[in-house]
Parts: sequence; C-alpha cells; structure tokens
Amino acid sequence: MENNVNLETKIQYLKGVGPAREKLLNQLGIYNVRDLIEYYPRVYEDRTQLIRIAEFTEGENVLFKAKIVGKIAIQRIRKGMTIARTYAVDETGRCKITWFNQNYITNYFNDKDEYLFYGKIEKFGNEFGVTNPITYKMSELEKIKGVYPIYPLTKGINQKYLFNLISSALVYNLGIKETLGKDFLKKYGLCSKEYAIKKIHTPKDFNEVAVARQRIIFDELLELTLALQIMKSSNKKEIKERTYNDVSIDEFLNLLPFKLTSAQQRVVNEIIEDMKSTRAMNRLVQGDVGSGKTMVAAIAAYIAVKNGYQAAIMAPTTILANQHYLGLKKYMDALGIKTEIITSNTTKKNKDIIARMLEFGQIDVVFGTHSLLEDNIQFKNLALVVTDEQHRFGVNQRIKLSSKSTCVETLVMTATPIPRSLALLLYGDLDLSIIDELPPGRKPVLTYAVGPSYEDRIRTFIAKQIDEGRQVYVVCPLVEESEQMENLNSVEKVYNDYLSSELGKYRVAYLHGKMKPKEKDKVMQRFSEGEYDILVSTTVIEVGVDVPNATCMIVEDSDRFGLAQLHQLRGRVGRGAYDSYCILKTKSKGKVAIERLKIMESSNDGFEIANEDLKLRGPGDFFGIRQSGLPEFKLADLLKDINVLKIATNVAKQILDDDPFLESEENKALKEEILSKYEMQLNNIGI
Ligand code: ADP
Ligand code: MG
Repeated sequence: MENNVNLETKIQYLKGVGPAREKLLNQLGIYNVRDLIEYYPRVYEDRTQLIRIAEFTEGENVLFKAKIVGKIAIQRIRKGMTIARTYAVDETGRCKITWFNQNYITNYFNDKDEYLFYGKIEKFGNEFGVTNPITYKMSELEKIKGVYPIYPLTKGINQKYLFNLISSALVYNLGIKETLGKDFLKKYGLCSKEYAIKKIHTPKDFNEVAVARQRIIFDELLELTLALQIMKSSNKKEIKERTYNDVSIDEFLNLLPFKLTSAQQRVVNEIIEDMKSTRAMNRLVQGDVGSGKTMVAAIAAYIAVKNGYQAAIMAPTTILANQHYLGLKKYMDALGIKTEIITSNTTKKNKDIIARMLEFGQIDVVFGTHSLLEDNIQFKNLALVVTDEQHRFGVNQRIKLSSKSTCVETLVMTATPIPRSLALLLYGDLDLSIIDELPPGRKPVLTYAVGPSYEDRIRTFIAKQIDEGRQVYVVCPLVEESEQMENLNSVEKVYNDYLSSELGKYRVAYLHGKMKPKEKDKVMQRFSEGEYDILVSTTVIEVGVDVPNATCMIVEDSDRFGLAQLHQLRGRVGRGAYDSYCILKTKSKGKVAIERLKIMESSNDGFEIANEDLKLRGPGDFFGIRQSGLPEFKLADLLKDINVLKIATNVAKQILDDDPFLESEENKALKEEILSKYEMQLNNIGI
C-alpha cells in the first residue's frame, strides 16, 4: 500500500500511524491523505536562528543547542503523571528543562553530543527554563531550520509527529489535481495547487508561505462563491401566481397589549410591499435579542392567512417552537385563525392528523421544528415560510421547507449581527430589514465581570434572588467533568458543587446537549413553570427561550465564549419586570480577556458588542458561518480576505457564464472539489 499512496488512502496505511494514533488523527478530522495534507497550519514559527542561552528573552520561542550532562531522574508526581528535570548547558549559561510524561527522555541523550531544543522560554527567579521542549539531534538541524508550521493539535499528537507525517505523505505523487486553467492562474498571479499545498507545509521562507496561502484562500472563496451562485441561479425569483390584496392589520394590532415600535412598523411595511410585489419575498430580518421579531413574523402570517393562504413558522428547538405557538395562539384564536404545532414531541398519530389537515387546508398557520420538513407534511396552499433564528439552520433546510410549495414568500429572522456584504453572500439574494430599536421600558441587564474570589458572594446573591422568588441560570462551557480541559467548569461539576453546598437546599436542575431532546424539553418546561430554582446548563439555552421570572445569569469561564454569544445568552434574563443581573466569571488574568468582558459590562447593544469584539479578537467564526450550514474555511477569513472575495466572485461569474453547471472537461476537477465540500447544499437542487 505504501508504494501506492494517493489522496484517498486511509490514514492507517501510512507509516507511523497505528490504531491509537489513527483515532487521535480522526479526532482532528483527518481520515485520509487528503484530509492530512489539507490540515493546514495557521501559524508559523521562525526557526532560522540558533539563540544562545545568555541571550534568551522570557516568553519567546527559541531554538537553541546545548548539552545535557548526567542522568535524568524521573519522578512520579501523581497517578499517571511523571516529571523529569535537568539542565541544558551551552558555553554561555544553563537553562532548566522540565518534561512531563516523557519517560523515554532518560535514554535520549548522551553526555558528549549537543542537541537542539525548541520551546518557549520561561523565567524562574533569575533562571531561564523551558517545559516540554521539542528535542532534536544535531543531524536534524538542516531539516528543522527555517520557517516551521504550527498545527492545531490534540493530546497525544505533537507538532513533530504531525509535521513528519505530512511531509512524508507529500513525498508521494499524490495526484493533486489543478482546478484552475493556466490563464486564470497567470492573470491573477496564483501558483499551482500542488505547489501551494507543498509549500504551505514545508516553506523555505515566509515569502513561500504567502504565495501558498494566497492560492489556498483564493480557492476556498472561489469554491464558496461558485456554490452560492449555482444555488442562487436555481433559486431565481419567479413571477408569483398568488396575489395579495391590501388587508388591514389593525384588527390584529388592536389585540396586542403594546404598540409596535417604529422599527417593527417599518419592517412590517417592507414585508407588505414584498408580498404585494410580483416577485416572491426573500427577506432577512435582523434584530437584537428582544427586539420583537416574533410579532413581525406573526403579522406576516396574518396577512398570508387573510389572503386565503397558509403559513409555516419554523424554530430551531422544540422549546422555542412551543413558545411561539403558545405566545401567538391566543391572538390567532381570537381572530379565528387555526393553528397547530409539529415537533419531535408530536406523536406519529397526531402528526398524521395534522399533516392531513394541512393538506386539506384546515390549518392556517403551523408552528414547528425541523419536523415540519418531513416528507409526508404537505400543504394545500403554503405561501409563507418563516425561519426563526436562521443561524441555527443550514441553507439546505431553509430551501427544503420552501420547496413544499411554489413561489413561497420567505422570511428569515436572526439576532446575529452580520455586515450587509456578508449577509448577501451567505444568504444569497435576500433583502435585508433591520429592527434597530428595542420596545420601550426595557431595563438593561446589570452585568459584572468578576474573578474567582467572588464565588462566595455570588452564591449568597443567588440565594437571595431565589428567596425573593426569582430563578437563576448558570451557564458552563463544558458538560462533563471528565472532558475537563484547562480547568474549565462543567455542568456536572457545578451541579454537584451546588448540591453539596448551601445552595443544595434549592431545586437545582441541569441541562445539556448530550441529553435526549425529550428530557431537555422536560427540564426546560419545568424551569419555565417555576419548578426549578437553578438551572445549570451549557449554551443550549442560548436560543430564544423566554422565562420572565429568571432574573440572574451566572456564566462560568465566560472568557471562553464569544461576546456575541454572551450577549445572546444574557438576553435570556431581563425579560420581566424585575431587575436582572448577569455575572461573568473568569479565571483569566489576560488583558484582552478582561477588556472583552468589560465591554459586556458597559454595553447592552448587540451590534456595538459585535463590533468591539471584532476589533479585539479578529473575525474568526464570529458571524456564525459555521452554523450557517456552510463548511468552515481552513484558511480564508471572510473579513480579512474581503478583497480576495471580490476577485473570486468575479472569477466565479466568468466561469459560470461560460459553463453554468460546470459540465465541461476543463472544469471537471473544480466541480469535484466543490461537490466534495458543498454536496449537501447542491444536492437539494439536483446538481
Ligand atoms: P426576539 O426579537 O428576541 O425574538 P421577541 O419577539 O421574543 O424578541 O420579543 C421579546 C418580548 O418583547 C416578547 O415578550 C414580546 O411580546 C415583547 N414585545 C414585542 N414587541 C413589543 C413592543 N412593540 N412593545 C412591547 N413589547 C414587545
Ligand atoms: Mg426570537
């Protein structure tokens, strides 16, 4: 097999990959050689120079050569953990070296040879030290000198191993196919694909890194834009068969205990214009947590029904779907509008009944989750599809519900602040409406970022809130104690801690994504009915739930969350008449981490928070690209690479002008590449 390595070769056939390593590599998403060579480093280290010990600077990564003299003793410090300590010596000084769990190191060195070490310099008193340095023999100097890629790792896989594995795979003729024509490459100054992949892993200098990155980023963005343009062109707005008469919405508005905000009113008007136009509506409504998106959706549904059509309102979770249903049913009942709900909790029998009623037009507005997408659910005359919290759905799911009828009006709602250019890219030819105003009288959630020393005070505060009749959320970054990395708090740990403390006398429940959907719903339902005082949870509560009596949220290790996400989480409190609090705990002493949390203390505005976070943290996955149903980029960054994106969009257009469905021989490799990434989305439209 070794002689015959290609892109599809399974990782276990490579030399140096046993069953244990195979599993670990799988955890990194590496199953075959293609995954391996596409496991790109994001950062590089400069190892072009050897540094002498006397010239070390604390905190810097350095490559140095030194001797190890004498035998190294291994000490067991606790179960499953050993420590080995020694000194490395060169002509200018000595440096303390510490290895954890690397027992083989005792036999690695001999007294007379020099060795190479690479690691981050720490300072202990007036002594330099380095922990778990990467260690090489002098004969390896030529190989490791230069610009060195740094890969994201998992426990049990180290840099050296991964680098060696990738470089050894790159030696084979892997059959990496060129996806772009020579003319394009030349015109846009791009290197070949094969060169890019080789050089991204084994560059001689930073210039080669830049050239390689440029090609790979271009490809990622080109493939995305091609896939999106193909999807869009198959999704062209058609001339509608349905017509909408002017209906007065006053009858509906008169039922509400409040007046629409002017932002809501404006968006409703935009929707009415869309519905009256000859083309189907395709609109994204963006509005901060609590801005009242649901009511806007309800009015759109009302208009559809008044015109004799059906509407569907889809939410990402059963809890949320229920909340929409219960919240709007009372108004719709009063107006003689027939409603139903379908979720994973609906029995098969009821689902069948509802499906038949929908088919015969006996239901006007149906609420639900993904369950609405099931094939046996058909409609008599579905005219409007609303998708709430759009970022939780894949692009394909949205398309699927719309395809249950022709020329459906689509309304998608999100609280994720996305810049317009990106919204257009991600959501195709959607029009954008923004609800940039909160209903009057909302009290800001009082937010405090605090360190571990506040634990006792926090617990006293929780008790006080509960004694006053309120409820409390506690959000943790992890589920179980066993997956505990870097000392982060888990739901399991906090739950047990609370139970065995003063707080144990209250009714404490927990909630996380590993529970069955029905169990989750039950816990959430009980919490919302006031049967629990404290809910310890992961971010599964993030989306839309409304429990006005919950006034306090504690977020454990809050520095681990994006600010946009913290803002969404915080939106779970401050929904009632009581003062509300959000306490952001952190063990971090890092400057950026603290600065970020301070933003949460001073602002309650989702857009502002998102912008500040962007400045401090850089883009990353912050726009919820990952949740949009599109594959993640390995290197490209939609904000930083916005100029490349523009070029890629143009190139995509040129390619599709000549070959709309990429059927030519010339585009074969490109099409394969796109299908491998966007198969799900494109399948839906039969490409
Ligand atoms: P989101 O935009 O986060 O989905 P919701 O639609 O859940 O917000 O609305 C949050 C709360 O505000 C709900 O209780 C809703 O009834 C209320 N609400 C909506 N519009 C108004 C308004 N114009 N004035 C007062 N309260 C409103
Ligand atoms: Mg909502």
